[in-house]
Amino acid sequence: MQEKGNISIHTENIFPIIKKFLYSDHEIFLRELVSNAVDATQKLKQLSGLGEYTGELGDLKVDVSFDEKAKTITVSDRGIGMTAEEIKKYINQIAFSGATEFVEKYKDKGDEQQIIGHFGLGFYSAFMVADKVEINSLSHAEGAEPARWICDGSTEFEISEGDRKERGTDIILHVNEESLEFLNQGRLQGILDKYCKFLPIEVRFGEKEVSEKDGEDKDGKPQYKTVKKDNIVNNPSPLWTKSPSDLTDEDYLAFYRELYPMSEEPLFWIHLNVDYPFNLTGILYFPKVKNDIELQRNKIQLYSRQVFITDEVKDVVPEFLMLLHGVIDSPDIPLNVSRSFLQADSNVKKINTYITKKVADKLNELYKKDRKEYEQKWSDIGLFVKYGMLSDEKFYDKAKDFALLENVDGEFFNFEEYKTKTEALQKDKDDNLVYLYSTNPAQQHAFIESIKKKSYDVLKLDGPLDAHFIGTLEHKLEKTQLKRVDAETVDKLINKDEKIESVLSDGDKEKAKEIFEKAISDANSTVSVESLASDEMPVIVTMPEFMRRMKDMQRQGGGG
Ligand code: ADP
Ligand code: MG
Repeated sequence: MQEKGNISIHTENIFPIIKKFLYSDHEIFLRELVSNAVDATQKLKQLSGLGEYTGELGDLKVDVSFDEKAKTITVSDRGIGMTAEEIKKYINQIAFSGATEFVEKYKDKGDEQQIIGHFGLGFYSAFMVADKVEINSLSHAEGAEPARWICDGSTEFEISEGDRKERGTDIILHVNEESLEFLNQGRLQGILDKYCKFLPIEVRFGEKEVSEKDGEDKDGKPQYKTVKKDNIVNNPSPLWTKSPSDLTDEDYLAFYRELYPMSEEPLFWIHLNVDYPFNLTGILYFPKVKNDIELQRNKIQLYSRQVFITDEVKDVVPEFLMLLHGVIDSPDIPLNVSRSFLQADSNVKKINTYITKKVADKLNELYKKDRKEYEQKWSDIGLFVKYGMLSDEKFYDKAKDFALLENVDGEFFNFEEYKTKTEALQKDKDDNLVYLYSTNPAQQHAFIESIKKKSYDVLKLDGPLDAHFIGTLEHKLEKTQLKRVDAETVDKLINKDEKIESVLSDGDKEKAKEIFEKAISDANSTVSVESLASDEMPVIVTMPEFMRRMKDMQRQGGGG
């Protein structure tokens, strides 16, 4: 039996268009073929579970292999397989119609960047790297005949009797001249690591040599030998697919190391698990944030049923949570569409809201459970919280209950507590609360000391986001102003009764400044003359923190 036919698509020149669009992303062909093999295997397991397939399941691993000489890459599975009829139906009609639809949709659009990596072309993507594709399949159905299908990338195909003896499917790619780079162990391993790391069925890519203990010598020293083992590229049951109640902290930390080898331990994590009104699982970790925030953004990986899709999650995860690490898996995020569509998608919006709520709940829980520990971690946690409060109104409303303010003495207050603390003393003549803050406690040391003498409190707001955070607080907190301590405004603003006059005129100040500068003649110090109360020193000399510490040390050491 041999049959030739025409694939029923109307676009004759589908290939050039697809190649153009996918130029930089050819490697996804392997993701598509391996996930098809995994799907076919899972379908078989399902049938077997339902009692509809009664044959032996046997070894269900999916195999990926390549032959440099023959210039082929083969993906084999022992899944449900296809009859000739099914190949015609699923490959000729379904797979190719998907591709046709794609081309119809995008052929006039120029925004290639947006499309790449955000859709699955399915089986058809094989033609990005191959000029001939062969299917060799034997259906699981009783009495099925093996079938072979060959297509050279035109709209013509050939189908004939096959010779496969074992249930399942081989997809054989005859790699084209431009894609010979893929006939390489390292390259293929790299692609499998990227896209197939957590596929639910074991994927084997040849063998690897491992060192194994081989008894002991006469002195009791362990002996090792090199043995060949299956090179399994994936972990078929990653942590996020398991039930949180079965997992320990160490499990979560180990999984973090698996995702981000060499990274510092995360602060804490959230296990996401929801199936209504959308389906989403995942684990989000709060990393220790380093100074270079940019480098740590965009570390969340997006999966769809354990198939890696992208680590560009900008539109799925709220902007302020881009600093989180981890994995999100959802079959409900539309992946075969462009970004702008993703932003408008209602599931994506719901997912966004859900994640924001989960994160807020978790922070609230940590805050309530152990305030001391929460305070200790505040320098790390605070960055997320502040970023969230700055960029998301809904998050602000939740976070105002567990956001902390730290003063220059290292004491922590929540918003209510701080209000209570400052209410009695720190009000201006219009009855506004005045929060004083320092953006650099070391440099502003002298101002802070003089202000503290008046029993005012000074907040420490010296973090990378604090300039914006101050603005948000002023906007959000009722009748509250925030003032930096290094300004003269401090006295004027707070004291409503006594108006403080400087003991010196402006001319006097200039003179005093010169005199002191000369007398001190220290390049590390800055002299400034301020309008302070008459019972205070009117002149303040500041120097960088490390210099001050050194002098302190010298003084304490009795030397210098
Ligand atoms: P999708 O996977 O989204 O359905 P594809 O283009 O990847 O689209 O595949 C089209 C169809 O071809 C699949 O739905 C399946 O029925 C069939 N198919 C592809 N690969 C295999 C395989 N290895 N074993 C069995 N059926 C397969
Ligand atoms: Mg597919």
